[in-house]
Order: sequence, then structure tokens, then C-alpha cells
Amino acid sequence: MASDGGGSSGTDPLSRRAELAGRLERVRSRIAAACAAAGRDEGELTLIAVTKTYPASDVVALAGLGLYDFGENRDQEAAPKAAEVAASDGPAIRWHFIGQLQTNKAHRVAKYADVVQSVDRLRLVHALGTAARAAGRDLTCLVQVSLDPADAGGERLVDSEGDPARGGVPPARLAEVAAAVEAEPGLILGGLMAVAPLDMDPVAAFAPLRDLSEVVRSIRNAASVISAGMSGDLEAAIAAGATHLRIGTALLGNRSVPVR
Ligand SMILES: *Cc1c(COP(=O)(O)O)cnc(C)c1O
Repeated sequence: MASDGGGSSGTDPLSRRAELAGRLERVRSRIAAACAAAGRDEGELTLIAVTKTYPASDVVALAGLGLYDFGENRDQEAAPKAAEVAASDGPAIRWHFIGQLQTNKAHRVAKYADVVQSVDRLRLVHALGTAARAAGRDLTCLVQVSLDPADAGGERLVDSEGDPARGGVPPARLAEVAAAVEAEPGLILGGLMAVAPLDMDPVAAFAPLRDLSEVVRSIRNAASVISAGMSGDLEAAIAAGATHLRIGTALLGNRSVPVR
């Protein structure tokens, strides 16, 4: 959780807010340029600020600048941060859980997350359903699909607890996991999420997204979310049909410890 805060520690709140405003403006103009290039309407894009390693005060500042969607990837960091933001009396926001999730943490995440983007196995679907019902909340779930060519064959087990370095269900198992979400009381199938493999050209990596989205929409037509695109590859994601961008460093600054 330690971070240089991209200049936030020891900086007064007003200058941090000004820094965040400038970064947000640059990200928005990148999004606008990419939408123009792709012939898409900016209104189709939802910007999610990924605030991992950054304090609740940055969440509150970005919410004050008009952002509504926030992402975190570790429960032990996200839970206290969500509580702090809720206690701050700031604008209402929506939390997206975007990291690898162990089934035994599902009940914790279901208490503050509105969306879980990293659903990649059947055991997790059932654990999240149980947790959502216990919390009395509806939880929107995105099925995380692997874009790693090594997973194209679909051999990897859907039910394994997963290698944290390689999240995502193989494309061949996408329909099975999406159908399980759709059938699970308490869960709402929202669409899919994907991360471009580190060693791959993002344009090539994101090429299958529209077809994969059709697989999910064949199970629930309204499940149209395509969450793809980070600070380094948002243009490629927009060209490939992304509806939700997960942006960390471009909005908040470099994390002192890479957390992916
Ligand atoms: C950290 C993270 C992001 C944001 O990455 P940046 O390169 O900082 O924009 C997006 N998605 C996931 C799943 C992440 O863990």
C-alpha cells in the first residue's frame, strides 16, 4: 500500500486536486481523439479510475471532478478505502473490483463492490452469489476472459483457483461461466473484462473482443459491457469496441510498487 502517491504525500490537497484535474483532462482528450479516430461517440465510454495504492482522499478529489466509477484490485486495500470514502460524505460513487479474487474473500467484496470484473471460474460465481444474497445486494459481474494465445485452446480448468499472473477464463469456456452468472440469484451478468497480455501488441490482443462480447450477449442481450483498456493501451481498446476503460497511472501518477 506504500506509495509515493504520485506527488501526493506532503503536498497540499489543493495542488493534488489541480494535478488530478490536469491528468483527467489529458486522459479525456486521449479518449476523445481515440473515439474520433474510431468513429465512436464518447458517450459510449465509461472511465473507471483505478486508485490502487492511492489514498481515499484522491478518490474523493476525483469524484469531486465528476468521476463516478472507481476500481481496486485488492480487498485488504479496497475495503478500508471504500469505508473511508463512504464516511467522507462526498458524492456517491461506484466501486469495481478488478483483481484476482479468492472465493473466501467474496463475502467481504460483496459488501462494497457494485461490480466484480474478475469473475473467471464457477466456484467464484457461486461464492459471489451466496455473498450477494447474504448482503442483500445485487452484484453485477463481468466475466474476465484471457486474451493470452496460450489459452486459445481452452484446456485450462475453469475451476482452478487460478494463477494470479494469468487471470481470465479461456475463450472456449466463456459461455459456460457467463451462463453460470446469469443463472445465479443475486448476480447480474454485465459483460466481459479483459487485460492485454504484457508481451503482446494490444491491437492484436483486443481484436477478438467484439466476437467474445457476442458470446456473452447471446446469454443476456443487455450484458454489453466490454471492460478493456488501461493507461498504455486505451486507444487500441476503444478501436476494438471497449465500453469501460480502467485507468490508473495516467490519472493518478506512477505507482511506486507495480500492482497489476
Ligand atoms: C492496475 C490495473 C489497471 C490500471 O492500469 P494502469 O496501467 O495503471 O492504467 C487496469 N486493470 C487492472 C486489472 C489493473 O490491475
